[in-house]
Amino acid sequence: MLAEAKLPALLVSHPVNVAYLSGFTGTYGLLLVTEERDWLLTDFRYLEQARSQVTGPEVLDIGPQAWRQVVELLVAGGVPQLAVEADHLTVDAFGRLEGALSGKATLLPVTSPVARLRQVKDEDELLKIAAAVALADEAFAHILGFMEPGRREQEVALELERYMRERGARGVAFEVIVASGPRSAMPHGVAGEKKLAAGEAVVLDFGCVLDGYCSDLSRTVFLGQVTEEQSYIYQAVLAAQECALQGLRAGLGGREADALARNRLTDLGLGEFFGHGLGHGLGREVHEAPRLRTEAGEVLEPGMVVTVEPGVYLAGRFGVRIEDVVVIEAEGCRNLTGSDKKLMCI
Ligand code: ZN
Repeated sequence: MLAEAKLPALLVSHPVNVAYLSGFTGTYGLLLVTEERDWLLTDFRYLEQARSQVTGPEVLDIGPQAWRQVVELLVAGGVPQLAVEADHLTVDAFGRLEGALSGKATLLPVTSPVARLRQVKDEDELLKIAAAVALADEAFAHILGFMEPGRREQEVALELERYMRERGARGVAFEVIVASGPRSAMPHGVAGEKKLAAGEAVVLDFGCVLDGYCSDLSRTVFLGQVTEEQSYIYQAVLAAQECALQGLRAGLGGREADALARNRLTDLGLGEFFGHGLGHGLGREVHEAPRLRTEAGEVLEPGMVVTVEPGVYLAGRFGVRIEDVVVIEAEGCRNLTGSDKKLMCI
């Protein structure tokens, strides 16, 4: 990709990209990739870990003078230009690197090509994502027996996290969303002090990080009884999600994918209440490329993993979101999520 883009060298600084390319999972490391050679630069704290995890690039101790070492390697290799990850390197670090280069090579901020590489998952990655998704499914089945009127949202969130960590998850993939009653109308209503009450909708949106890969699952359940309106909205969101699941396949653009569900909700007069995109890529990070949204996004390819999560939010009253994780295939998509989607009153 670097040769194609006519870039002689790339400095990978985003830890997730460093781990993806080199296997190094420490939090302090730079990967310098040139046409001839690559180096994993880290310091004393991570040297032993880097030497055991990294097989390709040469591992170097950069000590306290990180930028000077980068410059020395570039100058020794006769590299005239260094591309840096514009979506990660801070303005401050950019300035210091530029100062250290003092004209010996130019800096070029680019959108990291590694994000593009990471979109299409290999078999091993698909297995890891499937395992993370399966653990979230298990946690959802477990939490159904835990939720009841009087429980605080935060207790539910903690129980989800505890359950997944006890079964090998390193942690949650993002702050757990437990949004009950009127709070369920906030798409990102993280768990708060509120107690669950009978007759309310509860949106659960959570995932874990297992073996370096994330899951993301949303379900909406009702406590005790469900009103006719709640049931109608639930079925509308479910129908929209099913339209998307049936239509998703390689070759669709992000906007076309989003429209699969959006058109259905618009036909039902609910389009204005679906205020976010249909989904996002998922892998080492819980939100990564490609994006499925009205502002367009990348063209879907086999092996991409995306969420499919339409929702309807009636401000001040309640909301419904249903989210699965799928793998894009040539002729359709394969759903990794197994949690039940029939309307549930618990
Ligand atoms: Zn999501």
